[in-house]
Amino acid sequence: MPSSSQKLIAGVVAERAPGERRVAIVPSDVRRLESKVTLLVEHGAGQAAGFTDEAYALAGATLTNREALLAQAAVIVAVRFPADVDSWREGALLISLGTRDTALEAALAKRRVTHLGLERVPRIARAQSMDVLSSQAAIAGYAAVLEGARSLNVMLPMLTTAAGSIKPARMIALGAGVAGLQAIATARRLGAITHGFDIREAAREQVESVGAKFIHPATPLASADGSGGYAAEQAAEEQERLRRALAPELASMQLIITTAQVPGRRAPLLIDAATLGTLTPGTVIVDLAAESGGNCEATRPDELVDVAGVRILGPTNLPSTVATDASRLFSGNLRSLLEHLLGAEGQLRLDSGDPITGPLLGNRAPINTASHPPTIVA
Ligand code: NAD
Repeated sequence: MPSSSQKLIAGVVAERAPGERRVAIVPSDVRRLESKVTLLVEHGAGQAAGFTDEAYALAGATLTNREALLAQAAVIVAVRFPADVDSWREGALLISLGTRDTALEAALAKRRVTHLGLERVPRIARAQSMDVLSSQAAIAGYAAVLEGARSLNVMLPMLTTAAGSIKPARMIALGAGVAGLQAIATARRLGAITHGFDIREAAREQVESVGAKFIHPATPLASADGSGGYAAEQAAEEQERLRRALAPELASMQLIITTAQVPGRRAPLLIDAATLGTLTPGTVIVDLAAESGGNCEATRPDELVDVAGVRILGPTNLPSTVATDASRLFSGNLRSLLEHLLGAEGQLRLDSGDPITGPLLGNRAPINTASHPPTIVA
């Protein structure tokens, strides 16, 4: 175990992106990391997620301002890619989301800051506990149903009263990965009649295991299992066949949660203008693929669009609406990753040949390894 004077110094910065309420490390994980890492926390970093400066201090963190934190920390952890990297010192290591923004990645490279991009956690069993995309997708699936339910003019559960009966709403998840399955499970708990669809054959059993009906569009479609559990992109004609086959299934739904994604590509378009025209007014679509182009043609990121009475929501940061639990899971993923990077002896190792660290580095060598002290003296 490293002595306190040799422990790695890591800094938790406050998020500055508009609307971002999560924090990268929560107090309980400060305590769990204590034997290997000295944690600096920017004042107020956890406030929006419900974690006070006092809670961090009690857990053993040192509260400080951003400038002092950036000057001392060898490793900086954040949820979103911080915008102020221009002022960072060379040789720092940043662990955060943000690999999809090539301009920001370039800014980091210019500053000679190494970035471990959390979108690149590989889908291997050993890295499951570090998979931030999965933990946050599960929360987004849950929150999407709540957002959708609030926008619906009908109830999700069946209700029988002396004044008459209300039928349960019909819900479908298009894309039955982590977010879609959680959306189905949540809608089912709220009493909706649930359905699921995915182009990966493996999703059928998973949809049925959470109590939903797997939709078989009338037209036979090619299964599109890609590598690592992800879907492969379909050809344009196959996508068009899929849209036409799905349209009649969607016409009877009140709540449609779309989550279909293909890594590195524009999200597949599943609901075009023609399909929108066939939906019943009052239908609500929550499009979780809004940031990567949307599964619905009318989706606008973080806007509510009304097309002839069909309402389309495109929220891009639903985990932030449940910031306490989203932060807890994000922090658990980061703790697991830090433990992997530090190893038993508490030395930071950035091995680009490692099956987890390599992909996180984008399969590039760490920048400026020489000025990257494996441990720094506190
Ligand atoms: P994702 O966010 O990339 O995509 C969401 C879903 O959209 C996927 O299920 C995908 O098949 C589906 N999709 C893509 N194109 C579609 C289309 N045209 N029509 C309908 N659906 C379409 O995926 P995800 O939710 O992160 O996970 C996908 C799978 O990988 C799941 O089975 C999940 O359990 C698995 N997974 C495994 C690990 C691991 O082993 N460590 C980690 C994360 C996820």
